[in-house]
Amino acid sequence: MIQLCGCSGCHISLLDLHDKLLEVLPNLEIVYAPIVADPKEIPEGIDVFLVEGGIRNEHDEHLIHEIREKSKIVIAWGTCAAYGGIPGLANLYTKEELLNTVYTTDSTDNKGEIPSEEIPALEEYVKPISDFVKVDYIIPGCPPTPKMIADAIVALLNGEEPKLPTKIVCDE
Ligand code: SF4
Repeated sequence: MIQLCGCSGCHISLLDLHDKLLEVLPNLEIVYAPIVADPKEIPEGIDVFLVEGGIRNEHDEHLIHEIREKSKIVIAWGTCAAYGGIPGLANLYTKEELLNTVYTTDSTDNKGEIPSEEIPALEEYVKPISDFVKVDYIIPGCPPTPKMIADAIVALLNGEEPKLPTKIVCDE
């Protein structure tokens, strides 16, 4: 699992499985999940990668290519990964407009100074991960329901095709 340009809500939805997680977890080996631990490297040979969030900066873009190279199945997990989602509202503005707004508020330290080395450079726009790599499945929703996430994981564990909604907005 990874969070790119997202809000963690998709991860929280997974945790919302509560005790049902106990049924799923024994069958999984979680090898990379920066939101719960701080692994330095994405390991090779991942079966399924759940990607939350779209691509906002150069680091996101680097990571999604590495994820694709090292994973058999890549899942766009939630609306942000699949379509850009709420962060995509930033696409109403240019990159320069965003930076000049964010770094000039009264609550900003060193007001007016836009960091250039400490943070990865922004892409021009927020984009879905499918603009960069092949995506095998989309789990839609903002966030996807816990049941939908669990059903998809269980299906993949059983070697079956996950039954996922085809609608962009999920009202399940
Ligand atoms: Fe958050 Fe919704 Fe995006 Fe998931 S899809 S990261 S819940 S904004």
